[in-house]
Amino acid sequence: MITFSTRTKISFLVLLSFLALAFPWVSSRIASNEIHRESRYLMGTEVSISLAGVSKERARRGFELAFGALEEVDREMSGRPGSPLHLLNTSGSGKVSQGLFQVVSDALRFAALSGGAFDPTVAPLLDLWKIETGPHPPPTPPEREKARQQVGFSRVKTDPASLFVDLGGTRLDLGGIAKGYGVDRASEALKALGIENFIVDAGGDLYLSGAKNGAAWKVGLADPREPAKFLKVLSPRAGAIVTSGDYERFYEWEGVRHHHIIDPSTALPATASRSVTVWAKTAQEADALSTALFVLCPEKGLLLLKTLEGPEALIVDSSGLIFESPGFSNAAPEVSAR
Ligand code: AMP
Ligand code: MG
Repeated sequence: MITFSTRTKISFLVLLSFLALAFPWVSSRIASNEIHRESRYLMGTEVSISLAGVSKERARRGFELAFGALEEVDREMSGRPGSPLHLLNTSGSGKVSQGLFQVVSDALRFAALSGGAFDPTVAPLLDLWKIETGPHPPPTPPEREKARQQVGFSRVKTDPASLFVDLGGTRLDLGGIAKGYGVDRASEALKALGIENFIVDAGGDLYLSGAKNGAAWKVGLADPREPAKFLKVLSPRAGAIVTSGDYERFYEWEGVRHHHIIDPSTALPATASRSVTVWAKTAQEADALSTALFVLCPEKGLLLLKTLEGPEALIVDSSGLIFESPGFSNAAPEVSAR
């Protein structure tokens, strides 16, 4: 079971890479001057790291450490056969690493916070919907009900003293949070090396720090119905900006779009929104909240944000209307593309 997005998200395209596609000569000129950029396929998506204002040697060391951190998270939390998450799911309980324990505990916290809209035990519903396998008839109501009964984050128990997790008969999927955690670990690795100006972009889960040779980083927010176009261009404050959308992984069957974010209360793909973008201090928080708010309706999502300090959101609802939390435009001001 691959739990991370298997398609590159195009929620955000760092403008630099956009320019690189459109005008390759621009990219090569910038690259040879100051921006070092490397991409690898990890966690089911293309991960790109851009570093500014460092020597080639330091950039090489930065890539090594940052991609190393992401590889470790991918290895542990992808759910691939043999991975620690897979072993936990198959044995039903066990002692896990500090990192996996942390992500499971945080996922349970976001599950409680969102009233189960975000639920890391959603695995049986994901297996049922099999969005990855392309167009096929959606599951029947009895099939959905059976799988829904196997979902329930409150059955999972954790013991911090021994890093022990008891799944209580459920199975975990960390696809809605682990990518953000990986981006945070990669960003920490870069900072520990003294690199201050960078973007880590795991297929749309972004963490930004510093600037690009004195100029603020710019990111394009995709239009969920025309993902190759930008709805807005933003210049987010240092921190993370993450989007969940119904245009990342989906298939259409008899005119209905079925996508990869499932509402555990209905066992159906969530229908309230087309995309949710969250700015937060950490990519893990932005990742979990973007998935949670995608399942909740915009009104409930914005109410949830009011109870938290820090995160802000921009929501494109199912009819294309845009809702913003009061501080979003301050956390991620809109700027011109140039
Ligand atoms: P994201 O793109 O971050 O919104 O995460 C989507 C991924 O999260 C899916 O591919 C699933 O692996 C997982 N997922 C789907 N629905 C939920 C949900 N309701 N709660 C938690 N994780 C989910
Ligand atoms: Mg998420």
